[in-house]
Amino acid sequence: MNFAKVISEVPQLKRGQVWCRSCGSTQRTDSEGAMRHGWPKCCGYTMTIDSPEEQIRLAAGHQ
Ligand SMILES: [Zn+2]
Repeated sequence: MNFAKVISEVPQLKRGQVWCRSCGSTQRTDSEGAMRHGWPKCCGYTMTIDSPEEQIRLAAGHQ
């Protein structure tokens, strides 16, 4: 799998920031490193590449 290619095609991965769905904390992440070595976790859950605003938009069905 070509991680660099996947990352270049997904703006959220290129942005390199993740959020916790549970507590809302956020951190910068190296998307390629995270894909290879394990995605960051918070509160026992895998962190999401969707920002809180994007999560609301997705939940509402308007992407
Ligand atoms: Zn958390």
